Amino acid sequence: TIRTRFAPSPTGYLHVGGARTALFSWLYARKHGGRFVLRIEDTDLERSTAESVQAILDGMSWLGLDYDEGPFYQTQRFDRYKEIIQQLMEQGDAYYCYCSKDELEEMREKQRANKEKPRYDGRCRHLTEPKPGIEPVIRFKNPTSGSVVVKDMIRGNVEFKNAELDDLIIARPDGTPTYNLTVVVDDMDMQMTHVIRGDDHLNNSPRQINIFNALGAEPPKFAHVPMILGDDGARLSKRHGAVGVMSYRDQGYLPEALLNYLVRLGWSHGDQEVFSIQEMIEFFDIEDVNRAASSFNTEKLLWLNQQYIKNSSASHIAKHLAWHMEQRAVDLSAGPTLEQIAVLYQERAKTLVEMADSSMFFYTKVSSYDEKAAKKNLNQTSLPLLQDMKTRLSQIIDWLAEPIHTEIKACAEVHEVGMGKVAQPIRVAITGNTVSPSLDVTLELMGRERTLEAIELAID
Ligand code: GLU
Repeated sequence: TIRTRFAPSPTGYLHVGGARTALFSWLYARKHGGRFVLRIEDTDLERSTAESVQAILDGMSWLGLDYDEGPFYQTQRFDRYKEIIQQLMEQGDAYYCYCSKDELEEMREKQRANKEKPRYDGRCRHLTEPKPGIEPVIRFKNPTSGSVVVKDMIRGNVEFKNAELDDLIIARPDGTPTYNLTVVVDDMDMQMTHVIRGDDHLNNSPRQINIFNALGAEPPKFAHVPMILGDDGARLSKRHGAVGVMSYRDQGYLPEALLNYLVRLGWSHGDQEVFSIQEMIEFFDIEDVNRAASSFNTEKLLWLNQQYIKNSSASHIAKHLAWHMEQRAVDLSAGPTLEQIAVLYQERAKTLVEMADSSMFFYTKVSSYDEKAAKKNLNQTSLPLLQDMKTRLSQIIDWLAEPIHTEIKACAEVHEVGMGKVAQPIRVAITGNTVSPSLDVTLELMGRERTLEAIELAID
């Protein structure tokens, strides 16, 4: 079976680049009926935080990227890494290195002067005696000749000369393992068949392949996903705006819209833009991912969000809208159900934040009117219209959009004004402003009592 993983380092929030990598790995596993594993790479104790772990878990869960195994934590596997380091030592594939900072610096200076690539020259490889008083690091004995080919599923074969890979440190002076070692041990133990990750790791892959080989394990297949750029062509970062996945929830995006946006960043299927999760699973293939970096375009994400809001079921929207309502701490029992709100705004809202903000008046009394709107609509001219409407609305038998509409129309006819002249003052009375969905439907959802209350307040 195919086994993929997402292996974030918990040193910040789950950003969109990481989320896309996770999505690609998840899709690949789901497409092939494989297993998707979550592994938290928290060995950097200084930079890893519990909040960041939580942010990653929350992000995955909000996006619906479920994992079959894990989360595994590297900090709980130190014994295993020690064991493997020990094994490499015993096999003669690793050695103690006692070089001091100064010595290494001097080595680099010389290499720089000779216009050579700075690298560790392996001088401790053949030491027979430990150097007293120094806590050594452990280095991996990288092969010195030949080359390593990373058979990348996106980029094709990428060849690295062993002579250019130096002996990397696999254990620090305190014995703790380093990134390249832990990744290999985990990918081996967790039987990863495909490693899909950011292309900032491409240079690590030949080193990791060499460690796999030393351990007599078959390396996984690799796919290095190109990075995401901001609109200015620089690597996407905080200064381009929101990059944390959860901030997209906060801004009113549906998770499917973000997933759909992310899958299209560097991948396409004909000219199709909107993909259900099922279609993504069916059509996505890691080999079709672009080699070139792609840039993040908020306009397009917003467009997709609008499509999803328009076309999702009301109950689905209601489920996500509920979170936004909770943030606003309103009493939902005072107004329509969130399904009703969803239906009312599906065609007009681009985000759930817009939907929540513009439906607030259903749940909370209007505390003030927009000044311009009130001046124009709540005045001597509109007073008789509001009074007449108050009577008419109070006499309606079935409080439904249609009879409400009929009364608005009748009132306009009697007073010989356009329907807008009747509708706008009522709108201002109930929303505080001049925008709302179709007034008859809005009033139906408001209920008679609250509508009349609001009109009365406006008349005073
Ligand atoms: N923990 C690494 C990172 O967050 C990823 C390692 C990997 O995917 O191999 O960049």
